[in-house]
Amino acid sequence: MSGNKGYNPFAMAQAEFDRVAKTIGLDPGAVELLRNPMREYHFSIPVRMDDGETKVFRGFRVQHNDARGPSKGGIRFHPQETIDTVRALAMWMTWKCAVADLPLGGGKGGVICDPHHLSPREQEQICRGWIRQVGRDVGPNRDVPAPDIMTSAQHMLWMLDEYEALHGGHYPGVITGKPVGMGGSLGRTQATGYGVVYTLREALKELNHDPENTTASVQGFGNVAQYAIELYHRIGGTTVCVSCWDESEQTSYSYRKKDGIDLKELRSVTDGFGGIDRKRAADLGYEVLAGEDWLTQEVDILMPNAIENQITGENVGGIHQRVRVIAEGANGPTTPEADHVLAERGIFVIPDFLANAGGVTCSYFEQVQSNMNYFWELGEVLGKLDIKMTSAYHDVSNVARRQKTSMRDAAYMVAIGRVASACRDRGWI
Ligand code: GLU
Repeated sequence: MSGNKGYNPFAMAQAEFDRVAKTIGLDPGAVELLRNPMREYHFSIPVRMDDGETKVFRGFRVQHNDARGPSKGGIRFHPQETIDTVRALAMWMTWKCAVADLPLGGGKGGVICDPHHLSPREQEQICRGWIRQVGRDVGPNRDVPAPDIMTSAQHMLWMLDEYEALHGGHYPGVITGKPVGMGGSLGRTQATGYGVVYTLREALKELNHDPENTTASVQGFGNVAQYAIELYHRIGGTTVCVSCWDESEQTSYSYRKKDGIDLKELRSVTDGFGGIDRKRAADLGYEVLAGEDWLTQEVDILMPNAIENQITGENVGGIHQRVRVIAEGANGPTTPEADHVLAERGIFVIPDFLANAGGVTCSYFEQVQSNMNYFWELGEVLGKLDIKMTSAYHDVSNVARRQKTSMRDAAYMVAIGRVASACRDRGWI
Protein backbone atom coordinates (compact mmCIF):
# COMPACT_ATOMS: atom_id res chain seq x y z
CA MET A 1 0.00 0.00 0.00
CA SER A 2 1.00 3.56 -0.49
CA GLY A 3 2.22 6.08 2.06
CA ASN A 4 4.94 4.04 3.76
CA LYS A 5 7.87 6.30 2.82
CA GLY A 6 10.21 7.14 5.70
CA TYR A 7 8.10 5.14 8.12
CA ASN A 8 9.82 2.65 10.39
CA PRO A 9 7.29 0.50 12.25
CA PHE A 10 9.90 -0.98 14.59
CA ALA A 11 11.14 2.45 15.68
CA MET A 12 7.50 3.35 16.29
CA ALA A 13 6.83 0.14 18.30
CA GLN A 14 9.96 0.78 20.38
CA ALA A 15 9.03 4.43 20.99
CA GLU A 16 5.56 3.42 22.22
CA PHE A 17 7.06 0.74 24.43
CA ASP A 18 9.67 3.14 25.86
CA ARG A 19 7.03 5.72 26.67
CA VAL A 20 4.79 3.29 28.57
CA ALA A 21 7.76 1.54 30.22
CA LYS A 22 8.78 4.92 31.62
CA THR A 23 5.25 5.68 32.86
CA ILE A 24 5.02 2.38 34.74
CA GLY A 25 8.61 2.67 36.02
CA LEU A 26 9.86 -0.54 34.40
CA ASP A 27 13.41 -1.37 35.52
CA PRO A 28 16.24 -0.86 32.99
CA GLY A 29 16.98 -4.60 32.59
CA ALA A 30 13.37 -5.31 31.64
CA VAL A 31 13.35 -2.36 29.24
CA GLU A 32 16.52 -3.58 27.55
CA LEU A 33 15.14 -7.11 27.20
CA LEU A 34 11.68 -6.19 25.96
CA ARG A 35 12.51 -3.43 23.49
CA ASN A 36 14.33 -5.91 21.21
CA PRO A 37 13.50 -9.38 19.87
CA MET A 38 15.09 -12.32 21.69
CA ARG A 39 15.89 -14.13 18.42
CA GLU A 40 15.57 -13.61 14.70
CA TYR A 41 16.19 -15.67 11.59
CA HIS A 42 16.92 -14.25 8.13
CA PHE A 43 17.19 -16.63 5.20
CA SER A 44 16.96 -17.23 1.46
CA ILE A 45 14.36 -19.46 -0.16
CA PRO A 46 15.37 -20.60 -3.65
CA VAL A 47 12.41 -21.56 -5.83
CA ARG A 48 12.43 -23.15 -9.27
CA MET A 49 9.77 -21.05 -11.00
CA ASP A 50 7.29 -22.42 -13.55
CA ASP A 51 9.38 -21.02 -16.40
CA GLY A 52 12.41 -23.05 -15.26
CA GLU A 53 14.35 -20.08 -13.80
CA THR A 54 15.43 -20.07 -10.16
CA LYS A 55 14.29 -17.12 -8.09
CA VAL A 56 15.48 -16.45 -4.54
CA PHE A 57 13.01 -15.04 -1.99
CA ARG A 58 14.01 -13.48 1.36
CA GLY A 59 12.31 -14.91 4.43
CA PHE A 60 12.24 -13.94 8.12
CA ARG A 61 11.09 -15.22 11.48
CA VAL A 62 11.37 -13.05 14.57
CA GLN A 63 10.73 -14.39 18.09
CA HIS A 64 10.25 -11.35 20.24
CA ASN A 65 9.59 -12.89 23.65
CA ASP A 66 8.53 -16.32 24.92
CA ALA A 67 8.44 -15.85 28.69
CA ARG A 68 4.68 -16.58 28.83
CA GLY A 69 4.77 -19.55 26.41
CA PRO A 70 5.74 -20.53 22.86
CA SER A 71 6.10 -17.59 20.44
CA LYS A 72 2.98 -17.08 18.37
CA GLY A 73 2.25 -15.04 15.29
CA GLY A 74 1.51 -15.04 11.61
CA ILE A 75 3.58 -15.13 8.44
CA ARG A 76 2.99 -12.39 5.88
CA PHE A 77 3.61 -12.58 2.16
CA HIS A 78 4.12 -9.01 1.00
CA PRO A 79 6.22 -7.37 -1.74
CA GLN A 80 7.19 -4.52 0.62
CA GLU A 81 7.98 -6.71 3.62
CA THR A 82 10.98 -5.54 5.67
CA ILE A 83 12.72 -6.98 8.71
CA ASP A 84 11.69 -3.92 10.73
CA THR A 85 8.03 -4.51 9.91
CA VAL A 86 8.38 -8.11 11.06
CA ARG A 87 10.17 -7.00 14.24
CA ALA A 88 7.42 -4.52 15.07
CA LEU A 89 4.70 -7.05 14.38
CA ALA A 90 6.50 -9.67 16.52
CA MET A 91 6.65 -7.23 19.42
CA TRP A 92 2.96 -6.39 18.99
CA MET A 93 2.20 -10.15 19.07
CA THR A 94 3.85 -10.36 22.50
CA TRP A 95 1.57 -7.60 23.77
CA LYS A 96 -1.45 -9.05 21.98
CA CYS A 97 -1.10 -12.53 23.50
CA ALA A 98 -0.48 -11.00 26.93
CA VAL A 99 -3.45 -8.62 26.80
CA ALA A 100 -5.70 -11.54 25.79
CA ASP A 101 -4.11 -13.48 28.67
CA LEU A 102 -3.02 -16.39 26.46
CA PRO A 103 -0.15 -18.63 27.62
CA LEU A 104 1.88 -17.60 24.55
CA GLY A 105 4.68 -15.23 23.58
CA GLY A 106 5.08 -13.16 20.43
CA GLY A 107 6.63 -13.81 17.03
CA LYS A 108 6.13 -12.95 13.39
CA GLY A 109 7.38 -14.11 10.02
CA GLY A 110 7.42 -12.93 6.48
CA VAL A 111 8.53 -13.48 2.93
CA ILE A 112 9.19 -10.71 0.44
CA CYS A 113 6.91 -11.84 -2.38
CA ASP A 114 3.63 -11.04 -4.06
CA PRO A 115 1.33 -14.05 -4.32
CA HIS A 116 -0.80 -12.20 -6.89
CA HIS A 117 1.98 -12.99 -9.36
CA LEU A 118 2.88 -16.52 -8.24
CA SER A 119 1.28 -19.78 -9.37
CA PRO A 120 -0.05 -22.15 -6.68
CA ARG A 121 2.95 -24.42 -7.26
CA GLU A 122 5.39 -21.54 -6.77
CA GLN A 123 3.58 -20.50 -3.59
CA GLU A 124 3.80 -24.09 -2.33
CA GLN A 125 7.56 -24.06 -2.92
CA ILE A 126 7.91 -20.83 -0.92
CA CYS A 127 5.92 -22.35 1.98
CA ARG A 128 7.95 -25.56 1.97
CA GLY A 129 11.20 -23.57 1.58
CA TRP A 130 10.29 -21.35 4.54
CA ILE A 131 9.88 -24.45 6.76
CA ARG A 132 13.07 -26.03 5.43
CA GLN A 133 14.92 -22.94 6.68
CA VAL A 134 13.36 -22.61 10.15
CA GLY A 135 11.76 -26.01 10.71
CA ARG A 136 14.12 -26.66 13.63
CA ASP A 137 13.40 -23.33 15.30
CA VAL A 138 9.61 -23.49 15.28
CA GLY A 139 7.48 -26.23 16.88
CA PRO A 140 4.40 -26.85 19.03
CA ASN A 141 6.39 -25.99 22.16
CA ARG A 142 8.70 -23.35 20.64
CA ASP A 143 7.06 -21.11 18.11
CA VAL A 144 3.71 -21.56 16.37
CA PRO A 145 3.15 -19.68 13.07
CA ALA A 146 -0.22 -18.78 11.55
CA PRO A 147 -1.69 -16.90 8.58
CA ASP A 148 -1.51 -13.14 8.15
CA ILE A 149 -1.68 -10.78 5.19
CA MET A 150 -1.87 -12.76 1.92
CA THR A 151 -1.30 -16.16 3.53
CA SER A 152 -4.08 -18.74 3.70
CA ALA A 153 -5.13 -22.05 5.25
CA GLN A 154 -3.65 -23.84 2.22
CA HIS A 155 -0.28 -22.17 2.83
CA MET A 156 -0.42 -23.34 6.47
CA LEU A 157 -1.16 -26.90 5.38
CA TRP A 158 1.82 -27.00 2.99
CA MET A 159 3.99 -25.73 5.84
CA LEU A 160 2.62 -28.35 8.24
CA ASP A 161 3.22 -31.09 5.68
CA GLU A 162 6.83 -30.00 5.19
CA TYR A 163 7.38 -29.76 8.95
CA GLU A 164 5.99 -33.26 9.47
CA ALA A 165 8.18 -34.64 6.67
CA LEU A 166 11.22 -33.01 8.30
CA HIS A 167 10.43 -34.29 11.79
CA GLY A 168 8.80 -37.64 10.93
CA GLY A 169 5.42 -37.70 12.68
CA HIS A 170 2.21 -35.75 13.11
CA TYR A 171 2.55 -32.37 14.81
CA PRO A 172 -0.66 -30.48 14.02
CA GLY A 173 -0.02 -28.08 16.92
CA VAL A 174 3.00 -26.57 15.12
CA ILE A 175 0.92 -24.20 13.05
CA THR A 176 -2.57 -22.69 13.22
CA GLY A 177 -5.04 -21.38 10.68
CA LYS A 178 -5.07 -24.80 9.00
CA PRO A 179 -8.06 -25.89 6.90
CA VAL A 180 -11.01 -27.23 8.88
CA GLY A 181 -10.85 -31.04 8.71
CA MET A 182 -7.04 -30.90 8.51
CA GLY A 183 -6.46 -29.75 12.09
CA GLY A 184 -8.04 -26.32 11.71
CA SER A 185 -10.54 -24.89 14.16
CA LEU A 186 -14.04 -23.93 13.22
CA GLY A 187 -14.39 -20.18 13.61
CA ARG A 188 -10.73 -19.33 12.87
CA THR A 189 -11.64 -17.57 9.61
CA GLN A 190 -14.23 -15.38 11.33
CA ALA A 191 -12.28 -14.92 14.57
CA THR A 192 -10.27 -11.73 13.97
CA GLY A 193 -13.16 -9.79 12.44
CA TYR A 194 -15.66 -11.03 15.02
CA GLY A 195 -13.19 -10.19 17.80
CA VAL A 196 -12.98 -6.60 16.58
CA VAL A 197 -16.75 -6.35 16.90
CA TYR A 198 -16.92 -8.04 20.33
CA THR A 199 -14.67 -5.25 21.62
CA LEU A 200 -16.58 -2.61 19.63
CA ARG A 201 -19.85 -3.87 21.15
CA GLU A 202 -18.41 -3.47 24.67
CA ALA A 203 -17.10 0.02 23.85
CA LEU A 204 -20.47 1.14 22.49
CA LYS A 205 -22.13 -0.20 25.67
CA GLU A 206 -19.74 1.80 27.85
CA LEU A 207 -20.24 4.92 25.75
CA ASN A 208 -24.03 4.48 25.81
CA HIS A 209 -24.44 4.13 22.05
CA ASP A 210 -26.97 1.71 20.62
CA PRO A 211 -25.21 -0.14 17.73
CA GLU A 212 -28.48 0.05 15.76
CA ASN A 213 -28.12 3.81 15.53
CA THR A 214 -24.52 3.73 14.32
CA THR A 215 -22.83 3.78 10.93
CA ALA A 216 -19.29 2.75 10.03
CA SER A 217 -16.64 3.16 7.36
CA VAL A 218 -14.13 0.36 6.91
CA GLN A 219 -10.69 0.20 5.37
CA GLY A 220 -9.92 -3.18 3.81
CA PHE A 221 -12.11 -5.93 2.44
CA GLY A 222 -10.02 -9.00 3.27
CA ASN A 223 -10.72 -11.61 5.86
CA VAL A 224 -10.67 -9.32 8.89
CA ALA A 225 -12.85 -6.61 7.35
CA GLN A 226 -15.46 -8.93 5.85
CA TYR A 227 -16.17 -10.75 9.10
CA ALA A 228 -16.06 -7.55 11.14
CA ILE A 229 -18.72 -6.12 8.82
CA GLU A 230 -20.75 -9.34 9.03
CA LEU A 231 -20.97 -9.26 12.84
CA TYR A 232 -21.33 -5.48 13.00
CA HIS A 233 -24.40 -5.77 10.75
CA ARG A 234 -25.72 -8.59 12.92
CA ILE A 235 -25.61 -6.38 16.02
CA GLY A 236 -27.54 -3.75 14.10
CA GLY A 237 -24.90 -1.44 12.57
CA THR A 238 -24.79 -0.07 9.02
CA THR A 239 -21.58 0.10 6.96
CA VAL A 240 -21.69 2.88 4.41
CA CYS A 241 -18.19 2.76 2.95
CA VAL A 242 -15.45 0.19 2.30
CA SER A 243 -12.04 0.85 0.84
CA CYS A 244 -9.61 -1.67 -0.63
CA TRP A 245 -6.53 -2.18 -2.73
CA ASP A 246 -6.93 -2.49 -6.49
CA GLU A 247 -4.17 -4.77 -7.73
CA SER A 248 -4.51 -3.96 -11.43
CA GLU A 249 -4.41 -0.18 -10.83
CA GLN A 250 -1.85 -0.36 -7.97
CA THR A 251 -3.91 2.04 -5.88
CA SER A 252 -6.88 1.82 -3.57
CA TYR A 253 -10.52 2.88 -4.03
CA SER A 254 -13.43 3.43 -1.67
CA TYR A 255 -16.90 2.07 -2.39
CA ARG A 256 -19.86 3.88 -0.89
CA LYS A 257 -23.58 3.19 -0.58
CA LYS A 258 -25.18 5.81 1.62
CA ASP A 259 -28.02 3.60 2.86
CA GLY A 260 -25.63 0.76 3.66
CA ILE A 261 -23.51 -1.72 1.74
CA ASP A 262 -24.82 -5.23 1.13
CA LEU A 263 -22.04 -7.56 2.29
CA LYS A 264 -23.16 -10.55 0.25
CA GLU A 265 -23.44 -8.47 -2.90
CA LEU A 266 -20.02 -6.87 -2.45
CA ARG A 267 -18.42 -10.24 -1.68
CA SER A 268 -19.76 -11.55 -4.97
CA VAL A 269 -17.52 -9.08 -6.86
CA THR A 270 -14.39 -9.64 -4.72
CA ASP A 271 -11.30 -11.81 -5.32
CA GLY A 272 -9.62 -14.09 -2.78
CA PHE A 273 -7.30 -11.28 -1.58
CA GLY A 274 -10.17 -8.89 -0.75
CA GLY A 275 -9.87 -6.88 -3.99
CA ILE A 276 -13.19 -5.49 -5.27
CA ASP A 277 -13.89 -5.46 -9.04
CA ARG A 278 -14.40 -1.74 -9.65
CA LYS A 279 -16.56 -1.99 -12.73
CA ARG A 280 -18.88 -4.64 -11.31
CA ALA A 281 -19.22 -2.71 -8.03
CA ALA A 282 -20.18 0.43 -9.98
CA ASP A 283 -22.77 -1.63 -11.92
CA LEU A 284 -24.23 -2.65 -8.55
CA GLY A 285 -24.75 1.00 -7.68
CA TYR A 286 -21.68 1.69 -5.53
CA GLU A 287 -20.12 5.14 -5.76
CA VAL A 288 -16.42 4.69 -6.51
CA LEU A 289 -14.32 7.21 -4.57
CA ALA A 290 -10.61 7.76 -3.92
CA GLY A 291 -8.84 5.27 -1.66
CA GLU A 292 -8.42 7.67 1.27
CA ASP A 293 -12.08 8.76 1.22
CA TRP A 294 -13.09 5.98 3.62
CA LEU A 295 -11.42 8.08 6.35
CA THR A 296 -13.42 11.27 5.81
CA GLN A 297 -16.94 9.79 5.81
CA GLU A 298 -19.61 11.17 8.11
CA VAL A 299 -19.96 8.08 10.29
CA ASP A 300 -19.84 7.14 13.99
CA ILE A 301 -17.24 4.39 13.70
CA LEU A 302 -14.06 3.87 11.69
CA MET A 303 -12.54 0.43 11.32
CA PRO A 304 -9.05 0.44 9.77
CA ASN A 305 -8.89 -3.28 8.97
CA ALA A 306 -6.18 -3.42 6.32
CA ILE A 307 -2.54 -2.63 7.02
CA GLU A 308 -0.21 -0.52 9.18
CA ASN A 309 0.44 3.24 8.91
CA GLN A 310 -2.90 4.36 7.47
CA ILE A 311 -4.11 7.07 9.89
CA THR A 312 -1.22 9.52 9.96
CA GLY A 313 -0.36 13.06 11.02
CA GLU A 314 -1.09 14.11 7.45
CA ASN A 315 -4.61 12.72 7.06
CA VAL A 316 -5.95 12.60 10.64
CA GLY A 317 -7.38 16.12 10.28
CA GLY A 318 -9.76 14.81 7.61
CA ILE A 319 -11.64 12.55 10.04
CA HIS A 320 -15.24 13.77 10.30
CA GLN A 321 -16.33 15.37 13.57
CA ARG A 322 -19.12 12.83 13.93
CA VAL A 323 -16.65 9.94 14.47
CA ARG A 324 -16.80 8.63 18.05
CA VAL A 325 -14.98 5.28 17.97
CA ILE A 326 -12.08 3.77 16.04
CA ALA A 327 -11.70 -0.01 16.26
CA GLU A 328 -8.31 -1.03 14.88
CA GLY A 329 -8.63 -4.39 13.15
CA ALA A 330 -5.26 -3.98 11.41
CA ASN A 331 -1.90 -4.08 13.17
CA GLY A 332 -0.43 -0.59 13.68
CA PRO A 333 -2.86 1.40 11.49
CA THR A 334 -2.46 4.64 13.48
CA THR A 335 0.82 6.52 13.88
CA PRO A 336 1.63 8.01 17.33
CA GLU A 337 1.30 11.51 15.86
CA ALA A 338 -2.24 10.77 14.66
CA ASP A 339 -3.04 9.01 17.92
CA HIS A 340 -2.24 12.17 19.80
CA VAL A 341 -4.69 14.16 17.67
CA LEU A 342 -7.41 11.51 18.15
CA ALA A 343 -6.94 11.69 21.93
CA GLU A 344 -7.24 15.49 21.88
CA ARG A 345 -10.45 15.22 19.88
CA GLY A 346 -11.85 12.72 22.40
CA ILE A 347 -12.23 9.90 19.86
CA PHE A 348 -12.33 6.55 21.65
CA VAL A 349 -9.71 4.22 20.15
CA ILE A 350 -9.83 0.46 20.71
CA PRO A 351 -6.14 -0.26 20.08
CA ASP A 352 -4.99 -2.83 17.54
CA PHE A 353 -3.48 -5.45 19.78
CA LEU A 354 -6.66 -5.56 21.85
CA ALA A 355 -9.22 -5.14 19.05
CA ASN A 356 -7.67 -7.71 16.72
CA ALA A 357 -6.65 -10.29 19.34
CA GLY A 358 -9.55 -12.55 18.28
CA GLY A 359 -7.43 -14.20 15.57
CA VAL A 360 -4.66 -15.31 17.84
CA THR A 361 -7.14 -16.23 20.58
CA CYS A 362 -8.82 -18.64 18.18
CA SER A 363 -5.37 -19.80 17.06
CA TYR A 364 -4.71 -20.66 20.67
CA PHE A 365 -7.96 -22.66 20.74
CA GLU A 366 -6.83 -24.39 17.53
CA GLN A 367 -3.48 -25.24 19.05
CA VAL A 368 -5.20 -26.74 22.11
CA GLN A 369 -7.61 -28.75 19.90
CA SER A 370 -4.79 -29.91 17.61
CA ASN A 371 -2.64 -31.04 20.54
CA MET A 372 -5.62 -32.94 22.00
CA ASN A 373 -6.80 -34.17 18.59
CA TYR A 374 -10.30 -33.31 19.81
CA PHE A 375 -12.25 -30.62 17.95
CA TRP A 376 -15.01 -28.34 19.22
CA GLU A 377 -18.30 -27.23 17.68
CA LEU A 378 -18.51 -23.75 16.15
CA GLY A 379 -20.78 -22.44 18.92
CA GLU A 380 -18.30 -23.54 21.57
CA VAL A 381 -15.39 -21.82 19.78
CA LEU A 382 -17.25 -18.55 19.24
CA GLY A 383 -18.70 -18.59 22.76
CA LYS A 384 -15.23 -19.00 24.27
CA LEU A 385 -13.88 -16.32 21.92
CA ASP A 386 -16.54 -13.85 23.03
CA ILE A 387 -15.75 -14.54 26.72
CA LYS A 388 -11.99 -14.05 26.18
CA MET A 389 -12.36 -10.86 24.12
CA THR A 390 -14.93 -9.36 26.47
CA SER A 391 -12.78 -9.96 29.51
CA ALA A 392 -9.65 -8.63 27.75
CA TYR A 393 -11.61 -5.49 26.84
CA HIS A 394 -12.72 -4.94 30.45
CA ASP A 395 -9.24 -5.65 31.89
CA VAL A 396 -7.98 -2.78 29.72
CA SER A 397 -10.93 -0.49 30.22
CA ASN A 398 -10.67 -0.85 34.02
CA VAL A 399 -7.02 0.19 33.93
CA ALA A 400 -7.82 3.08 31.56
CA ARG A 401 -10.45 4.33 34.00
CA ARG A 402 -8.30 3.84 37.09
CA GLN A 403 -5.19 5.44 35.57
CA LYS A 404 -7.19 8.09 33.65
CA THR A 405 -5.39 7.17 30.46
CA SER A 406 -6.20 6.11 26.89
CA MET A 407 -7.22 2.56 25.99
CA ARG A 408 -3.95 2.20 24.06
CA ASP A 409 -1.76 3.09 27.01
CA ALA A 410 -3.90 0.97 29.33
CA ALA A 411 -3.54 -2.01 26.96
CA TYR A 412 0.24 -1.52 26.97
CA MET A 413 0.24 -1.30 30.76
CA VAL A 414 -1.67 -4.58 31.12
CA ALA A 415 0.43 -6.38 28.51
CA ILE A 416 3.88 -5.09 29.48
CA GLY A 417 3.09 -5.71 33.15
CA ARG A 418 2.16 -9.35 32.47
CA VAL A 419 5.19 -10.05 30.26
CA ALA A 420 7.64 -8.31 32.60
CA SER A 421 6.36 -10.26 35.57
CA ALA A 422 6.73 -13.57 33.64
CA CYS A 423 10.36 -12.59 32.86
CA ARG A 424 10.90 -11.68 36.50
CA ASP A 425 9.27 -14.88 37.83
CA ARG A 426 11.55 -16.94 35.58
CA GLY A 427 14.55 -15.11 36.96
CA TRP A 428 15.51 -13.54 33.61
CA ILE A 429 15.62 -10.01 34.94
N1 GLU B 1 -1.77 -12.92 12.16
C1 GLU B 1 -2.72 -12.75 13.21
C2 GLU B 1 -2.39 -11.56 14.08
O1 GLU B 1 -1.71 -10.64 13.69
C3 GLU B 1 -2.93 -14.03 13.99
C4 GLU B 1 -1.70 -14.61 14.58
C5 GLU B 1 -1.92 -16.03 15.07
O2 GLU B 1 -3.01 -16.54 14.92
O3 GLU B 1 -0.96 -16.59 15.60
O4 GLU B 1 -2.87 -11.46 15.18
